[in-house]
Amino acid sequence: MAFQFMCPRGHLLEGDESQAGQQCRCPQCGMVFIIPTPAPAAVQEAVLPESALPEESSPAGMAGFGAAATSNQPRMLHIPCPNGHELETPEDMLGQEVLCPHCNAQFKLRERDSVEFRRQRAAEFERIHRRKGKNWMNWAIALGVIVVLGVLGMIIMAFN
Ligand SMILES: [Zn+2]
Ligand SMILES: [Zn+2]
Repeated sequence: MAFQFMCPRGHLLEGDESQAGQQCRCPQCGMVFIIPTPAPAAVQEAVLPESALPEESSPAGMAGFGAAATSNQPRMLHIPCPNGHELETPEDMLGQEVLCPHCNAQFKLRERDSVEFRRQRAAEFERIHRRKGKNWMNWAIALGVIVVLGVLGMIIMAFN
């Protein structure tokens, strides 16, 4: 009979009851562990080895599972040097003087020079622009309606 169980890293896996107690490898993270028996009492057993896991040896990409210090990485910004070489720099380097490794130009890291900041600005500009455009459309439609109503009114008046 098939049953579901979790690998020590929390990936939900499915196996057969006959496999309980056997070693298996999690296809998601490659963790090798013993398949727990599907009895309710075994649930605790399956959870316990988690705390005994050596965090250092865990492969990358397991963010959010313990080791908060390493998974909490600063945001990366891309800032071009005065000669246009795009450099990747963590957010906490902002405001510091740095040397471009490509051309040795010295410059200050500024958030407003970063690709991310410019992209954000561009998106904001576009959003405002689009809203303005929409307003113009509304005005044009309103004006059109008024003109049409006026013409209709005149036609009706002329027929009377
Ligand atoms: Zn896993
Ligand atoms: Zn450069």
